[in-house]
Amino acid sequence: MRTSIIGYPRVGGLRELKFATEKYFKGDLSADELQNTAKQIRKNQWLLQSNTGLDFIPSNDFSFYDNMLDTAVLFHIIPKRYADLKLSALDTYFAMARGYQGEAGDVKAFAMKKWFNTNYHYMVPEIDDDIEIKLVGTKPFDEFAEAKAIGIQTKPVITGAFTLLKLLRYVGNKTAEDYAEAVIRSYADLLSRLSGLGAEWVQFDEPYLVYDLTEADITLFEKLYNGILSSKKDVRILLQTYFGDVRDCYNSLLSLDFDGIGLDFMEGKETWRLVEQNGFADGKLLFAGVVNGKNIWKNQYEKTLAILDSLQSKGIDTVISTSCSLLHVPYTLKNETRLPKKYTDHFAFAEEKLAELAELKVLSERVYTQEPAFQANRALFEGRPDCNDPSVQEKVAKIRSSDFTRLPAFSEREALQKKEFALPAFPTTTIGSFPQTADVKANRTAFRKGNITESEYVAFNRRKIAECVEWQEEIGLDVLVHGEFERNDMVEYFGEQLNGYLFTEKAWVQSYGTRCVKPPLIWGDVSRSKPMTVAWSVYAQSLTDKPMKGMLTGPVTILNWSFPREDISVRESAYQIALAIRDEVLDLEANGIRVIQIDEAALREKLPLRRSDWYSEYLDWAIPAFRLVHSGVKAETQIHTHMCYSEFTDMIRAIDDMDADVITFEASRSDLLILDSLKENNFKTEVGPGVYDIHSPRVPSVEEIRAALDKMLEKISPEKLWVNPDCGLKTRGVAETTASLKNLVAAAKELRNENH
Ligand code: GLN
Ligand code: ZN
Repeated sequence: MRTSIIGYPRVGGLRELKFATEKYFKGDLSADELQNTAKQIRKNQWLLQSNTGLDFIPSNDFSFYDNMLDTAVLFHIIPKRYADLKLSALDTYFAMARGYQGEAGDVKAFAMKKWFNTNYHYMVPEIDDDIEIKLVGTKPFDEFAEAKAIGIQTKPVITGAFTLLKLLRYVGNKTAEDYAEAVIRSYADLLSRLSGLGAEWVQFDEPYLVYDLTEADITLFEKLYNGILSSKKDVRILLQTYFGDVRDCYNSLLSLDFDGIGLDFMEGKETWRLVEQNGFADGKLLFAGVVNGKNIWKNQYEKTLAILDSLQSKGIDTVISTSCSLLHVPYTLKNETRLPKKYTDHFAFAEEKLAELAELKVLSERVYTQEPAFQANRALFEGRPDCNDPSVQEKVAKIRSSDFTRLPAFSEREALQKKEFALPAFPTTTIGSFPQTADVKANRTAFRKGNITESEYVAFNRRKIAECVEWQEEIGLDVLVHGEFERNDMVEYFGEQLNGYLFTEKAWVQSYGTRCVKPPLIWGDVSRSKPMTVAWSVYAQSLTDKPMKGMLTGPVTILNWSFPREDISVRESAYQIALAIRDEVLDLEANGIRVIQIDEAALREKLPLRRSDWYSEYLDWAIPAFRLVHSGVKAETQIHTHMCYSEFTDMIRAIDDMDADVITFEASRSDLLILDSLKENNFKTEVGPGVYDIHSPRVPSVEEIRAALDKMLEKISPEKLWVNPDCGLKTRGVAETTASLKNLVAAAKELRNENH
């Protein structure tokens, strides 16, 4: 059997690309230097993959920002407003990714959306009726040639035509169907160029196929590939799916002229059944996704080899593959020097997964049960040290159904809180973090490295908090925050203080563009031994008469942004974390914090891709977990929550069922469709749809914010509307933050004046 991976991380093992790109943005690095960094990363990775004996080595999985954006640019999907800036190709690309404000003009970025059920975010390319789709870029060809020049034959990876058309945002009158012919031509051109360069295999990524598909979707899919495949010559095509099973189109996949089909055996609940019941196609290769591309646990060889054995016994020509791109796992365990071996023995990051593929390849060709590699692997699954805490398990077992309900009901609380806080109409607030300037990061690093004492560390943060409170009062915000200077990351911060967690030094995973997160690992049962945030919040509140929001991360987000256990259910894990955060909520309240925000930035993240699984596999425990956290507070205590997206139109009831008092969410980058459904569903929770995009450095004008608010007021009743940015400000600079927030407050004041 041969081995394949779908893609590899690309920010660099030590985030070299991130740092270089950010320097480039600041003007401290030239475009050539940035290109060189990128080249070096690609080269290292190809060599590494080649040295482990990987048979199908991907290329064009690299990206300066995002692969969807790369594909858009490749096929000329570049709206006029970006082209009109007349910047270099690279800067036009970055303008689409991040927006641009400068001498050449002022444009917003493309929208950004979560990539299926991951914490990666892709850019949503926008297409209008004037855009002609055609092959104009050279990235896949350049990278293929680059690898070839160092003696490595690669398999170029391209977003598939169907997924591209399904994920584009159509701003004109045309729809996906209208572009089908042009797309077919463009992909056919791409194939002929690649085959001319000597490519043997090309991988088309079609994750959209794992959604619930309509008849029209399947027709479009077949039309596209009948067209594209009719012109393929020497090059072989791998149709790669991931993040689930392809139950709606399995037979189409078999009947189309693909040379290989990639199926996900990890998240694809029905993948095995599909193969079993329908068989596979003669002459095609099955790329079996048996090594999990999302988790960090070692592969269980016994299970994997059993799958491979069965495929082999069916006579299916199988390639051992990962279940999705390794983009979603960190680079390598080699960078982890602090975790004891008794723990790391159980983990496999990207590089270690390459080794697993190599090992599985060898084992699959032998009678493996007596092989040392097999036995060593089996021993790992016989039990892990330090992961059971009976007291935690008992607490979870004792949860009663009343623990999920906060009393009194919302309307009564809302009235009480209006009196309690006496806030002006359209209250202004922020989402929590303030700019993480170099000094803030340096303070944390110095403390972590032992270069300063704890009291020095605390004193610095207190000064920052004091500045931040003063800053917010000057700006004129109504509900303040302490600024989160003590936090590197909203999940890791809690993970580090909770029992049951392990954390890494360098296990970064790309979230979007140059932004990476370092998810902690849930190793064992989770509990809290002491307050985690109370001292900071209490200090911040002591500096102001305005309400200070306590700032916590909710259990679903903590879980979704951690690498989860696989030996207990996610429900069990979520409830364990919920009980720990609940203790923190009650401690904040007992210490005089009257507004508490419990961020569920990642609530939607693990929402199953198929609607039929939404409640049974997810919402039925996720929403209760959130309710468990806040059900113990007094009526007057105001519970906020925040989500990083507005794509909950279809799950609005579940969101309202979280029973928070106020919810803030992203709205500035998306169309305001969400507002219609809030109205239609009589959404009870007060709302703060973000009025500007914090992912971009541009400063929104008062008029712009005002216009956004006016639009919101068409759908939201004035007494329910809050005014806030769409997410935390940690990635922003000080100057733009001040300017943006001043404009935000000005817009809210304007509105108040007019409404009185
Ligand atoms: N309170 C967090 C912050 O402001 C929320 C971050 C998020 O939603 N991702 O940084
Ligand atoms: Zn957010």
